[in-house]
Amino acid sequence: MKSTPQDKTNLDPNLVEELTVSLSKEVSKRRNFAIISHPDAGKTTLTEKLLLYGGAIQQAGAVKARGEQRKVTSDWMELEKQRGISITSTVLQFAYKDKTINLLDTPGHQDFSEDTYRTLAAADNAVMLEDAAKGLEPQTRKLFEVCRMRQIPIFTFINKMDRPGQEPLELLDEIESELGLLTFAVNWPIGSGELFRGVVERATKEVVLFSRAERGKQSNEIRLKINDPELKNLVEEELLTKALEEIEILDEAGCDLNQELILSGELTPVFFGSAMTNFGVRPFLDNFLDLSQGPVARNSFDGPIVPTRESFSGFVFKLQANMDPKHRDRVAFVRVCSGRFEKDMTVQHARTGKQIRLSRPQKIFGQDRAVVDDAYPGDVIGLNNPGMFSIGDTLFIGPRVEFEGIPCFSPEIFSWLRNPNPSAFKNFRKGVNELREEGAVQILYDKDQSKRDPILAAVGQLQLEVVQHRLASEYGVETRLEPMGYQVARWVKGGWPALDEVGRIFNCKTVQDAWLRPVLLFKNEWNLNQLKEDHPEMELNSVAPVV
Ligand code: GDP
Repeated sequence: MKSTPQDKTNLDPNLVEELTVSLSKEVSKRRNFAIISHPDAGKTTLTEKLLLYGGAIQQAGAVKARGEQRKVTSDWMELEKQRGISITSTVLQFAYKDKTINLLDTPGHQDFSEDTYRTLAAADNAVMLEDAAKGLEPQTRKLFEVCRMRQIPIFTFINKMDRPGQEPLELLDEIESELGLLTFAVNWPIGSGELFRGVVERATKEVVLFSRAERGKQSNEIRLKINDPELKNLVEEELLTKALEEIEILDEAGCDLNQELILSGELTPVFFGSAMTNFGVRPFLDNFLDLSQGPVARNSFDGPIVPTRESFSGFVFKLQANMDPKHRDRVAFVRVCSGRFEKDMTVQHARTGKQIRLSRPQKIFGQDRAVVDDAYPGDVIGLNNPGMFSIGDTLFIGPRVEFEGIPCFSPEIFSWLRNPNPSAFKNFRKGVNELREEGAVQILYDKDQSKRDPILAAVGQLQLEVVQHRLASEYGVETRLEPMGYQVARWVKGGWPALDEVGRIFNCKTVQDAWLRPVLLFKNEWNLNQLKEDHPEMELNSVAPVV
């Protein structure tokens, strides 16, 4: 039998040493990131272009099929097809230079953001993608807040420079003033829209020329030194002068490309480019590899677990049902946090204490899957999940590990879920419970136990529709939604006793979550603030405490 780093009791010490070295090597090769952006900023386009460099060109078109092609590739979910949107998160792995890069793809639709939040919990770096004409958009701001909470490095790509956009200095200023993030422009655009001529690389003082003829092809970078006499035949003088003056302003006022500040999530390197024409994507990737962080230690209840810990550990950050309609399967996505993962390995499930043999691990690439033999920290594997895994579950080998849970996100939409058919009650209850366990939606109940209909609490409207759709297709229950008109939820620290102490509260509805803890629902922030003013002693949380 092949020896593994996990069962090395009888191994030759030299072999143990070799396994440790090989683990460190694999860890240092890994880079992982998620893209945060607003729909239409160009995430799919950028992803396709990044994959071109990784030799994964065959599958690049499968990232998100569009139009007619979408019908052919037939996405996994009926609803997704009806709505023509991409709900699924996929994980794309590609090799570039000496690195193995994992791109944790997040759903782009603005309504379906809880999954995106969870995916960010598994990412070590984030790429913030902006449309140069639109600047910061709502979805990007929300996702940025999650990155900030985790203090992960953020790399900014300002896209669509081939189209008229906002002033580059204004775009940087917006990031600095509204997100409180320092910026360092790694390159600087010369003109924009019809007059976009390329970028000046600040480190090399080279001009990289943009050529419209390159559209849709691998870019054939033409670089000239800033003082090359040829330049004045290729770029209008006033455009170049303006760019150089702006760079001077940056040099004087701005900060350095400080790696420490990048890694602590306080400074974002900014790149200007055009994903569609593949301009600026390779320099972006090269810089990203130099400046980003590899797999980081993850917090467990007993302290941080480093990726080079010999034995395997990982956590479930996403569950997905019925990815393949032919098989009605469920997949649990696990982020590997330490050690080497191997096919057929038997691991411990921290929550239940059960031993589980992981016999068919998969790597998911767009719609395609391949069985994996091994995986390392920073990688993501998909496990067939016959109902035993929940979001946040830890799997490990060796000394016990349990990672801190993944926070739920504060719901903003609340709706009664009615089951008009009493004979379907059993299936209704089973479906609602299973979808809650899977993390598809949060469930609240009226305080009055006789009102048994659940309240769906979601981050986006689409989440509610997904629940209804799945109850119908997987559990045979047709349901009705009845919106409640609340927008804000708060959990009360200290539970029911703390609430009783406060006495009657106005302009809010008290409900309870699946663990019977009190939750206050408010129609708006104003009503919430009113309560805070009236009762400054109350401690309220916007997210459910981890169970
Ligand atoms: P997503 O919703 O963020 O995945 O955005 P897509 O990648 O689907 O892009 C949205 C639209 O913007 C598509 O029509 C793209 O062709 C277009 N697009 C993406 N990148 C660029 C770019 O660099 N320049 C221009 N002009 N259009 C772009």
